[in-house]
Amino acid sequence: MNSFERYVKTLKEAAKKIGLDDAMIAKLSEPNNIIEKTIDINKDDGSVVSFEAYRVQFNNARGPYKGGIRFHPEADIHDVKALAALMAIKCAVVGIPLGGGKGGVKCNPKELSEKEIEQVARSWARAMANDIGVDQDIPAPDVYTNPQIMAYMLDEYEKTVGRSEPGMITGKPIALGGSQGRDAATAQGGVYVLQSLVKKLGKNPSDLRVAVQGYGNAGYHAARLLHAAGYKIVAASDSKGGVYNPEGLDPEVLSQTKKEQGSVSQGNLGDTISNEDLLTCECDILIPAALDNQLREDNASNVKASIILELANGPTAPEADPILREKNIHVLPDVLANAGGVTVSYFEWVQNRQQFYWTQEDVLSKLQPIMEKSFEAVFETSQNKSLTLREAAFITALSRIVEVMQLRGL
Ligand code: GLU
Repeated sequence: MNSFERYVKTLKEAAKKIGLDDAMIAKLSEPNNIIEKTIDINKDDGSVVSFEAYRVQFNNARGPYKGGIRFHPEADIHDVKALAALMAIKCAVVGIPLGGGKGGVKCNPKELSEKEIEQVARSWARAMANDIGVDQDIPAPDVYTNPQIMAYMLDEYEKTVGRSEPGMITGKPIALGGSQGRDAATAQGGVYVLQSLVKKLGKNPSDLRVAVQGYGNAGYHAARLLHAAGYKIVAASDSKGGVYNPEGLDPEVLSQTKKEQGSVSQGNLGDTISNEDLLTCECDILIPAALDNQLREDNASNVKASIILELANGPTAPEADPILREKNIHVLPDVLANAGGVTVSYFEWVQNRQQFYWTQEDVLSKLQPIMEKSFEAVFETSQNKSLTLREAAFITALSRIVEVMQLRGL
């Protein structure tokens, strides 16, 4: 199964539970638009190289398409379609007035210079300029893209269309209209959701050991925030490997080690482990914060954590879900757990439209109730209907999307 087929499987199972008809399921199984372009850049050595570039606009019933852009060598069209669909679900789970979209460039930014990355960003924005915009489709960062890349894209887009339009993209640097709190928002939202579950289960953070797979924006901030809240970080990894230490790891030391030595695994901070080992290590909370399809049929039964917080998109394959359920593991699904990122993107978009900017306290005081209320709604549905949290999140979102599609006469 490719990632899009995995999305469709999850969709169909949830749709059955709320009695959606075949026509509606078919409508939610295909994106509205797929935009595919080839972009060319001049390499520093004078050669020209081309990359596949995508934007998938999945569903805009609830508002303009919204979702990040990833630069990744494996970002194929199936992935981008699946990720666009998950964005539509995610925005509906947290009740923000946006639809779902996703973009990608199939390239390896680790092999490109800063100047070459700038060209990829500018070429993407030029190629997509007719299809994106503040009221149409609003991109943001995703895997291996960041605020600087958003700044290049904003600049190129505004030059192309000939007007100022800061709300056409989110996740920008603060000086260019970005929002306070956007950087840590994905992790912060996840922490609010996790804390709500921990409280419900009557557990004490200081008794809970955390393993974080992926030490990019989401993974690092999650480790930092959870460490500050009293949890013990016992394992962390990045694309080059991981480290495990039952005595606990300091998130800032991990970050410094990654910066200076290229990987969290390189600082002699504990036992060296692989990414695969991290998923099944001794811990209470597992946080996949890297790529999709990490927990599968072949490794799910070895997971030792009792809670999984999905900060990555699609880290659990559908075949793994029943195994995790059987083991009574609480899986906080991506469409809820990592929705803090797009929620603060929504706040950024609102601020850009108003040209009136909020403090960090304003942002957090609006983010926290959205995440907690969304968790409560999903948790209650899962309890009442004996569903997993993922099934409950999907049916909550699908009901909201279908309601507006019907109001629109579909
Ligand atoms: N890339 C992030 C996600 O998958 C954020 C998207 C956004 O802010 O639009 O949720």
